[in-house]
Amino acid sequence: MTRHTLTSLRELYDRPFFDLIQQAREAYRAHWPENEVQLCTLMSIKTGGCSEDCAYCSQSSHYDTGLSRESLAPLQRVLETAERAKANGSTRFCMGAAWRGVTEHDAKFQSVLETVREVSKLGMEVCVTLGQLTPEAARQLRAAGVTAYNHNLDTSPEFYSNIVTTHTFQDRLDTIRSVQQAGMSVCCGGIIGMGESEIDRLKLLEVLCGFDPAPESVPINCLMPMSGTPLDGQPPVDIFQLVRLIATTRLALPKARVRLSAGRTRLSREGQAFCFFAGANSIFYGDKLLTAANPGVDADRSLLDELGLGITAPQPLAESLAG
Ligand code: SF4
Repeated sequence: MTRHTLTSLRELYDRPFFDLIQQAREAYRAHWPENEVQLCTLMSIKTGGCSEDCAYCSQSSHYDTGLSRESLAPLQRVLETAERAKANGSTRFCMGAAWRGVTEHDAKFQSVLETVREVSKLGMEVCVTLGQLTPEAARQLRAAGVTAYNHNLDTSPEFYSNIVTTHTFQDRLDTIRSVQQAGMSVCCGGIIGMGESEIDRLKLLEVLCGFDPAPESVPINCLMPMSGTPLDGQPPVDIFQLVRLIATTRLALPKARVRLSAGRTRLSREGQAFCFFAGANSIFYGDKLLTAANPGVDADRSLLDELGLGITAPQPLAESLAG
């Protein structure tokens, strides 16, 4: 497969809109079962009080966002949420903790491992997002049953320091390398609408295209401006820019699940339909996405029904593991 560069990505992105989405649709049909969307559920297992200063995040302790902190969720509560997610059709359960990162020596990390061991018995893909990882912590997560690790690069290397100053773009890449070496699949994408240019978005995609192995999934988030954060008040993303980015991602990484993630409450139903046509094939499902609002389960079911889209059936666990 051709490895895309910024030049080739721009060439795709700038095509006439209908040519671009038609081509993306063909790439989607060549690699994925038609008319199928994967439902994922994301649960915050530790909320707020994070030492990092990510400018979009309501959980950073650098900003007064009014968010109530919650310590690590007890195993039983996580299990109940995971069971409910499975009963509602989710085939992927992702647990997120607001931390700079974890090491194998943390007591809290040992508790997360215990939770992962139990959740992995439910037969869903198990994803966690815990911030930076050491290679050994990554290995232990994999051994406990984690199939995928989410660690977004957020934006281009050049724009990154406008968004985060407490860690670097390279720190993110180092964690992703640890995840890959441990044999977990990588879920890595970004957030658009933070004041970056369209070129920044393509530069992020260029970095993702350089991953070896390629990311198994690419979440594309639209900023949900959070009160009290530096990015409060940012205008919504232009729908055609979002659809172009999804289509370009589908063409550049045809085998990746493209996840239409945060920000769907600011998209119309028609806008979301365009995103699915252009190659998005996964959504986060449930009323909350960590601390941000998400369309309700009923609204999502009705949209998928309206479009004739089915939901991805559970896969045997072995198939969902990265090689
Ligand atoms: S995005 Fe993650 S690392 Fe950054 S402030 Fe929020 S919880 Fe912390």
